[in-house]
Amino acid sequence: MMEDVEGERTPRDFFSRGADEQQAFLEQTWCDNCQQVNSGMVEPHEYELKGVIYIEGKCKVCGTVILTELTDEDF
Ligand SMILES: [Zn+2]
Repeated sequence: MMEDVEGERTPRDFFSRGADEQQAFLEQTWCDNCQQVNSGMVEPHEYELKGVIYIEGKCKVCGTVILTELTDEDF
């Protein structure tokens, strides 16, 4: 049996967040490819990996995967 070195992702429900919060996450983005802030993202999903929460989506402009890492301070 192969171990998954990335660790296990625990899915979380992004859509259980409040509408305002969802909106903020979808708008306040940084795209490495576009080199632009707040171009927005689509297809968000949220998961937890090794105690860190991530929100992953795709850049609205170029489709590059955008990863937002939530530290404890964001809670
Ligand atoms: Zn982009």
